[in-house]
Amino acid sequence: MLSMRLNIGIIKGDGIGPEVVTEAMKVLDKVGEVYGHEIVYTQLLMGGASIDVHGIPLTEETIQKAKQSDAVLMGSIGGDAKTSPWYQLEPEKRPEAGLLKLRKSLNLFANLRPAVLYEELEDACPLKKSITQGGFDMVILRELTGGLYFGNRSTSEVNGVLTACDELLYTEEEIRRVAKRAFEIARKRRGKVTSIDKANVLDSSRLWRKIVEEVAVEYPDIQLEHMLVDNCAMQLVKNPKQFDVILTENMFGDILSDEASMVTGSIGMLASASLNETKFGLYEPSGGSAPDIAGKNIANPIATILSAAMMLRFSFDLNQEADAIEMAVKRVLKEGYRTIDIMSDGAIEVGTQEMGSKICTYIEA
Ligand code: NAD
Repeated sequence: MLSMRLNIGIIKGDGIGPEVVTEAMKVLDKVGEVYGHEIVYTQLLMGGASIDVHGIPLTEETIQKAKQSDAVLMGSIGGDAKTSPWYQLEPEKRPEAGLLKLRKSLNLFANLRPAVLYEELEDACPLKKSITQGGFDMVILRELTGGLYFGNRSTSEVNGVLTACDELLYTEEEIRRVAKRAFEIARKRRGKVTSIDKANVLDSSRLWRKIVEEVAVEYPDIQLEHMLVDNCAMQLVKNPKQFDVILTENMFGDILSDEASMVTGSIGMLASASLNETKFGLYEPSGGSAPDIAGKNIANPIATILSAAMMLRFSFDLNQEADAIEMAVKRVLKEGYRTIDIMSDGAIEVGTQEMGSKICTYIEA
């Protein structure tokens, strides 16, 4: 077994962040022990925790230290907008501004969100049993730094009528780099990419489709299909099992990834990764900092633990170790252990720390 040294930046974040990140570190330490890797953590401040110490949500020091790490594992940031003093500050000094700036500074252009329905959690899924039987397992790869959200925008009055305009712009390079990522990820999964666009109407989508087809030539082992975004929205609830890797642009991905996470039924189970052109990635749970349940040892740590598994897979190519974490999570669910958010009749309720410890006990080489 080849031993590695993993330099991991840790942003514990706000609300439930410190609780769930601590459990993910516990699981990573167990992986290090079982597989013989040395794991070195560097604690970084971002979001509300950084405001409390430095008055701003992200310092230059955090950016530099994040860049020096191989990968960053993060809990969510932010607080209750109605009661937290962080939201009395001007918008660019609030917690979320730190996250946007960090993503930009690290050039994280690809956002990856798995939507997995575990057989054991089928009851949490709002879809019919006949559709979800056996569970499903897909990832949505969303372009994160281009498209409609980053184009020019304006509102003006034309002949006395208020008129607004948002520009949807993509260059072929922006499409190519994220498409390559999708095909590489499909190679680590079941070998299928579904590219989503609106090529029957939009020029940006026609370019998207053309470049994705060009990239596909370099990956003859991967099956490519194209699907219109309106059809994809329907297929996600009609037949989610058909999807492996869904590749799409920024706004379509924003909407479809939320739809895909809803059909899994629990926000506490959903991991995410934001990637750039190197092996570096920022890994975090898809949900927020859940201030309503912070400090009570009831938050579900599985989303963060699965984010750590994604980090091992994508930033360190440690597939076996990532598999070990995912298998351990499945085993704990199979044995009936649940945090309160995924609790069902007859299951055994556990807290955040106990869930982390149970997963550790099943990490095996
Ligand atoms: P949220 O995801 O924090 O909470 C929504 C609901 O889901 C709450 O009832 C919460 O208790 C529950 N929940 C979330 N994660 C859970 C977990 N791991 N286990 C059990 N239950 C869980 O969304 P919100 O309330 O809209 O936002 C709270 C704060 O989080 C805000 O400040 C928001 O800006 C921030 N936020 C941060 C990120 C991020 O850091 N990437 C993302 C989304 C929201």
